[in-house]
Amino acid sequence: MGLIVQKYGGTSVGSVERIQAVAQRVKATVQAGHQVVVVVSAMGKTTDGLVKLAQDISPNPCRREMDMLLSTGEQVSISLLSMALQALGQPAISLTGAQVGIVTEPAHTRARILHIETQRLERHLKEGKVVVVAGFQGVTAAEDFEVTTLGRGGSDTSAVALAAALAANCCEIYTDVPGILTTDPRLVPDAQLMDAITCDEMLELASLGAKVLHPRAVEIARNYGVDLVVRSSWTDEPGTRVISPVRQPRPVENLELGRPVDGVKLDTDQAKVALLRVADRPGVAAQLFGELAQQDLDVDLIIQSIHEGNTNDIAFTVQKASLNQAEAVATAFSPLLRNKNGSTRDSAEVLIDRDIAKVSITGAGMIGRPGVAAQMFSALAAAGINLQMISTSEVNVSCTVMAVDAGRAVALLSQTFDVEMVSQPDWPDQTTEYPAVRGVALDGKQARLAIRDVPDRPGMAATIFQRLADAGISVDMIIQSQRSRSLNGVISRDIAFTVAEGDGDGAHHLLKDAQRDYHWGEVLLDRAIAKVSIVGVGMIHRPGVAAQMFAALAQANINIQMIATSEIRVSCVVAEADGIAALQAIHRAFHLGA
Ligand code: ADP
Ligand code: ASP
Ligand code: MG
Repeated sequence: MGLIVQKYGGTSVGSVERIQAVAQRVKATVQAGHQVVVVVSAMGKTTDGLVKLAQDISPNPCRREMDMLLSTGEQVSISLLSMALQALGQPAISLTGAQVGIVTEPAHTRARILHIETQRLERHLKEGKVVVVAGFQGVTAAEDFEVTTLGRGGSDTSAVALAAALAANCCEIYTDVPGILTTDPRLVPDAQLMDAITCDEMLELASLGAKVLHPRAVEIARNYGVDLVVRSSWTDEPGTRVISPVRQPRPVENLELGRPVDGVKLDTDQAKVALLRVADRPGVAAQLFGELAQQDLDVDLIIQSIHEGNTNDIAFTVQKASLNQAEAVATAFSPLLRNKNGSTRDSAEVLIDRDIAKVSITGAGMIGRPGVAAQMFSALAAAGINLQMISTSEVNVSCTVMAVDAGRAVALLSQTFDVEMVSQPDWPDQTTEYPAVRGVALDGKQARLAIRDVPDRPGMAATIFQRLADAGISVDMIIQSQRSRSLNGVISRDIAFTVAEGDGDGAHHLLKDAQRDYHWGEVLLDRAIAKVSIVGVGMIHRPGVAAQMFAALAQANINIQMIATSEIRVSCVVAEADGIAALQAIHRAFHLGA
């Protein structure tokens, strides 16, 4: 006998028949001796329909009224499911987020959960009822009791948060696929089911576009050690377990407002190789990293920023002991990587820097919190520390700095984010036993911005990203290019980054306004991009994984526009039109299909 939280997504409760089938499953769980709290989404595509209605009235509807509107979808499904349970003779009661007391911060359309009142839930459970709770919604604290929503896909987060607050034995997410697959089966039909995945990998996959789980749900499961399973609501198959480390008990206050950053990392055993002016055509990255892999060189950070004319820059880091070998490969390759009919000016140039260190901050708490990267950049800028390379994902920001600045940088970041330095992340010991790549994801809902000629001095990245953060714009992948230019004696570099498609125009306007004040060059916006990513803890210290991804794209004749990496992830930006083909090619290259 235990307490189970079950969550059913939109398709799972998309019709009367489906609601009745769900009621049967819930009743069977009760008959097996469990107490059950059920969380449901709105029926089928209800939420999309409501969004469309709002947009037909106003292109930019007020966030508060959006919450009032969208929260109605879940109220329909909870009452119907409760009736269906009662019709089966199973006592049940439906409750909205406000009635439960799912208390959130007052941020409309993207609220985070602060805490959950459990008294009423526990009372109904004790009475032998199934409690059916509306997902995706909450309420602000007294006196306003404003209705809030958690962001699209947020019912998963409601369910895992309830499981944490109630100390439930298990949280089961029922959906329209058999569990978590190697990629989206709608785009790659032979995607395979995984029986388990670590929460670190799932967190990356979810934030990179695998919408089967809301990333914030994975974050809560990890922080509170919630036993989380994703399964089909059509079958009795076991589905996929998301494995969280066992955590010490922690207060269920500020459930989602824990620290934005979990740890600060320093790696002083790194050296940088940069190739400037390599040809911007498919296959270049594949050739270079293929040869590095051939020589068993383990590449860590890889960065390729936007092209300039018909050339690109690619920079990467390796362990110091491998630098000579890596330099030799880069130098040998540089003539091959230049433009075919290029002049000498166009030939690739190799730059080496032995005296660098990598500092990183990590933490799922950064997701949806626009200011975290900016805060890191500001702290470093205030201490006069210049950032050389920047590579970010939604859960990680890595920068390289001059080696002499490394100690200071880390001390400062630990202080800024109030966290300890972690020398080694808590990956499983035997990462080589893991497949190099667990999953592949595609995010087609991004836009890319680039600022040319940003003066290369401390504080510029901080200024840019603080401005965006102040406007509530979350930045995903940030890349600072290697190539510098000298204009009237001022050294400058390009910075490129991606944002959610809907924020593209806003970010573009804002940066164009700031352009003159800061003497930047052009600000460019490209909406027609897609991001493909590979994720796996097994790629750590395994040479050649990124090269294999680049080779797959080259074979499909797909040009890579930008590259950014973290320890367990490689992401490439490609043209939007190439997105699905890129996903399929990569999935095939890693033999992830059936
Ligand atoms: P629900 O309404 O149940 O919350 P969602 O539509 O939010 O369902 O999420 C399930 C969908 O996620 C699947 O139908 C599938 O198309 C998509 N998806 C994307 N990536 C993956 C993946 N790696 N594994 C499984 N499903 C995925
Ligand atoms: N109904 C909401 C949405 O469509 C929440 C959810 O389904 O998780 O985004
Ligand atoms: Mg969902």
